[in-house]
Amino acid sequence: MRTTNKIVVLTAPSGSGKTTIARRVLDAFPGMHFSVSATTRPPRPGEVDGVHYHFVSEEEFRRLIDEGAFIEYEEVYPGRFYGTLVREVREAARTGPVLLDVEVKGAMNVKRLFGDDALVIFIRPPSLAVLAERLRRRGTETEASLRTRLERAAQELEYADRFDAVVVNDELDRATEETLRLVRSFLER
Ligand code: 5GP
Repeated sequence: MRTTNKIVVLTAPSGSGKTTIARRVLDAFPGMHFSVSATTRPPRPGEVDGVHYHFVSEEEFRRLIDEGAFIEYEEVYPGRFYGTLVREVREAARTGPVLLDVEVKGAMNVKRLFGDDALVIFIRPPSLAVLAERLRRRGTETEASLRTRLERAAQELEYADRFDAVVVNDELDRATEETLRLVRSFLER
């Protein structure tokens, strides 16, 4: 069984419970490392530089692009860049599988690059209405950014069938179990 150099990608519209599921996946597979992306968006309350993201200026991000520091990157929202760092994935992959949390285009790029060594999972809310409700309850968004995130979510849902697996997050514990099962069988492959 080879678990190094295997990449698990979780993709989900913002507010789909992905962060919680990602944390539980990391807890369940202690050898797995989270690849911390770089982003130009400002930290949310409670987010720590180097833990949740490497928070960088747009200038720094562009420098990283020029240096070839990214496996993939996207302008996920206007003026908001996010990218997977080669060095993060390389270091993490030396000792175990790697977990990525990226949006759809990033996930498709990782799949294209890593093929069978990548498992790309799409976690979706039961409906856009449920997603809107969850995002409102989370309270991290303004009405405008909420609208942007919902529009993006509607687009992202259209990509779901290109993923290796789709998990509907109707109930967090059930969705987590399903995700853990998928990851386990991928790692044992
Ligand atoms: P958030 O601002 O909610 O943390 O993230 C917004 C979106 O950016 C999420 O869908 C998240 O998965 C995605 N994202 C985070 N890091 C990366 C990355 O390195 N590359 C890509 N393509 N998307 C990312």
